[in-house]
Amino acid sequence: MEDDLYALLGVSRTASQTEIKKAYRELARKYHPDANPDDAVAEQKFKEVAMAYEILSDDEKRKQYDRFGSVGSPGSHFQGSGSISDIFEAFFGGQSPFTSSGFGTQQRNSGDDIEITVSITLEEVVTGGEAEFTVVLPLPCETCSATGSENEKLDTCVTCNGHGQVQQVRQSILGQVMSTSTCPSCRGFGTSIVDPCQPCKGSGVQNIEKSFSIEIPKGIDNGVTQRLSGMGPAGLRGGQRGDIHVRYVVEPHSRFSRHGDNLIEQLWIPVSHAALGSEIKYETFDGTQTLDIPLGTRTGDRFRYAGLGVPKLQRRGRGDLIVEVVVDTPQNLSKVSEDLLSQLAEELGQPINVKSTKKRRKNKKNE
Ligand SMILES: [Zn+2]
Ligand SMILES: [Zn+2]
Repeated sequence: MEDDLYALLGVSRTASQTEIKKAYRELARKYHPDANPDDAVAEQKFKEVAMAYEILSDDEKRKQYDRFGSVGSPGSHFQGSGSISDIFEAFFGGQSPFTSSGFGTQQRNSGDDIEITVSITLEEVVTGGEAEFTVVLPLPCETCSATGSENEKLDTCVTCNGHGQVQQVRQSILGQVMSTSTCPSCRGFGTSIVDPCQPCKGSGVQNIEKSFSIEIPKGIDNGVTQRLSGMGPAGLRGGQRGDIHVRYVVEPHSRFSRHGDNLIEQLWIPVSHAALGSEIKYETFDGTQTLDIPLGTRTGDRFRYAGLGVPKLQRRGRGDLIVEVVVDTPQNLSKVSEDLLSQLAEELGQPINVKSTKKRRKNKKNE
């Protein structure tokens, strides 16, 4: 099989779009199935030419092919084993219509991947835990052992004549263009089930409610997904199971916010404690700690508990827990407190210049 798209179309690597289009039209006419009935070689050639044109006529895809697709170029991932099927898969993903070996059903009947959203707390991120969820999944039918058949009797699918794929011809400015798609009757298997299993109606799968309990990865961040490989929906007629992608949503915490692997809390402390220093009982995810507030602490001062932050995902160690102080101003003071503060102000050489409490109250209202 030819694996150089330019050679396939018989044009140089620097060919213009006009040259490419012209070469394609000539070859498509030459190898068209109508002109070559029952000629498998011509049919294959026709498909290859169409595919080469599809890539080379698209500037973006052509650039990509020039960069990665030329067999034998340094770093090419088609190097050595490059074939037109590989190239097709690289460009369009999924099943190549040029795979000649029995229209492989391995990929096509795999189950889909699904995504589940799980809500967890910040505490679970830090200390770990189990996430539980229940989903209704297509799972292998137990009655027919996922074959979809009562007795494993199969017929050739009449829609696709056993190929598993159907071809459609559509008209375009370039003439007729063939496209291949999975047979809607047999979903690509190429066979029809003679006596379908009743419970699963021939699909080989049944919807079953299934509960999962999974360990929450310590340190997982909000919005990150974890893949449960092969635990998702089963494919038709015994096909492989897809994956479940678990997306974690971390509920906002009332005290801590997360910054990378660090936790930060803004802690309000009374001005007296800030001025004189204090020892505070401080609750963390790791139990009660003592927080030593030194005298003269100001708003914005930070205190750090090394290693009490968020565990590093799939690595050793943890971030830090950082306490950021906000000095609180006392409000609704008694007469005695007001007098004491007033005295303090005098003592500090910062006399209060508005003497009347009444006036100061009024100022507050006017804000
Ligand atoms: Zn069944
Ligand atoms: Zn079919």
